[in-house]
Amino acid sequence: TYPRIAGGRLTWAAVQHGARPALIHGDQTFSFDEIEARTNRFANALLGLGLAPGDRVAVLLNNCVDSVVAVFGAEKAAQTYLALNARHTLPEHAAILNDSQASTVVLGPEFAALAGELPALVPSLRHVLGVGFKAPNALDYHDLLGAAEVRAPRIPIPDDHIERIGYTSGTTGKPKGVAYTALRWQQRLDNQFHAMEYALGVDDAMLHVGPLTHAAGVYLLPCYLRGARSVVADRFDAAAMLRDIERHRITQLMLVPTMLSRVLDALDAGSNADLSSLRIINYGTAPASVELLRRAVKRFGPILRQQYGMTEAVQPLAVLYPHEHVIEGAPQETARLGSCGKPTVNVSITIRGADDQELPQGEIGEIAIAHHGIGAVQFWRQPQITAASIRGGWYYTGDLGYFDAEGYMYIVGRNKDMIISGGFNVYAREVEDALASCPGVLEAAVMGVPDPEWGELVAAFVVPREGSRVTPEELTAHCGARIAGYKKPRVIRLVKELPRNHSGKVTKHVLRDAFLQETE
Ligand code: ATP
Ligand code: MG
Repeated sequence: TYPRIAGGRLTWAAVQHGARPALIHGDQTFSFDEIEARTNRFANALLGLGLAPGDRVAVLLNNCVDSVVAVFGAEKAAQTYLALNARHTLPEHAAILNDSQASTVVLGPEFAALAGELPALVPSLRHVLGVGFKAPNALDYHDLLGAAEVRAPRIPIPDDHIERIGYTSGTTGKPKGVAYTALRWQQRLDNQFHAMEYALGVDDAMLHVGPLTHAAGVYLLPCYLRGARSVVADRFDAAAMLRDIERHRITQLMLVPTMLSRVLDALDAGSNADLSSLRIINYGTAPASVELLRRAVKRFGPILRQQYGMTEAVQPLAVLYPHEHVIEGAPQETARLGSCGKPTVNVSITIRGADDQELPQGEIGEIAIAHHGIGAVQFWRQPQITAASIRGGWYYTGDLGYFDAEGYMYIVGRNKDMIISGGFNVYAREVEDALASCPGVLEAAVMGVPDPEWGELVAAFVVPREGSRVTPEELTAHCGARIAGYKKPRVIRLVKELPRNHSGKVTKHVLRDAFLQETE
């Protein structure tokens, strides 16, 4: 059976919201009707190239109207869309294009050089489309759109049509492709709407900072379907963001923790931007320190909303709602700031220990999730990962955590990052929070490094605040007053910044490798 039309919900949104503004980028505003027309043209252009449903179309564009048109258009042409990451290098792009067996790649002008380089490296590639540049072996995107029909192609697709391949952030290894069928993508979207306790509608304006193709784009489709305006920034810049909030009367944001910290710094440095329109600040993708959240709640009030999610699953898996970000009152309520909330309506979460046994409340173990469709998670052409991570109907996430007595979940780190020092388990998060609570510290990353005597030693890479003269000795003393002796970092390195991937996550393996090389 073919239960839906590829991109049918996008056409529906245009019928609903018509001439209203859908997308604002710089000085340009595009209505829903305009996005619909452009998207249809792109879909028809792809079909005109002879692509079959489910062929892979890869897109490498910096934020612009066409980075939205490309996702929506590929969907309407019943192609399998995948985003390339602007920060990756040529070999990394080639690896993902080969892994996905992409037939087509759409390149922005900043990536024009790749038009000549990729075809030799990616045998499956049949078409290169240049957006805003000409190259000998690239088709001109705008010419193709100009010549294409404006009517929606309306292609029926089955539930198991693969609509997208989402690549994980590559925090713990190489990025893995996750295949989303049409059914699973719809479930993901439904769950996102379910988890919104607040309205999202025509009066809303969301500011998307960071690449739309990744975390910043999580709310693109929900905004589009609800008729909210999406304001797209070229990149994250705290001062520019504050100006944009005032200029566009932004009601909602989605930030990664580093952005939140930079915005607070910019506000502390003195900013008179009018932020009164802000209703919700969504944040997530990586652990945020309790200290950072305390600052944020003090500054913005109870409008922060944390979400825990992952590429493999529906979005979000758990939410800490604004009213749950309590800082006044009892100490256990303060502690909630360190929680990522409770599971969302369609999601079940358990904590598992040895032999996959479910652990009692309060104990730390691997976070295992279940929701409709999770048993059908498919890692793109890697059935061995799929088989290893789904056991007994539960998906084993590789994240470690526990529940408190009130049902709030806390993430303490990743499986791969757990430190065993002298036979004791140490969780990075607790040590990072202890370090971050020291006034001279901006942020910290904690990990285990091999040690002949203890098995592993707790090592900390600490970024001091500007102007701070904090010393490793002071940090050791500060931690000594907060956490058990065996958790105290034995190795402390002061660094200017922490290495991060495109999702803003600290790549601990990079730090660990550098440390090992240095001590060799
Ligand atoms: P890879 O799987 O390639 O190593 P990744 O796990 O970082 O990379 P994503 O799917 O982008 O790739 O991220 C999901 C992970 O991000 C989660 O498993 C969790 O570790 C972390 N994460 C997401 N949201 C939160 C949050 N609110 N708090 C803490 N950690 C989070
Ligand atoms: Mg992961």
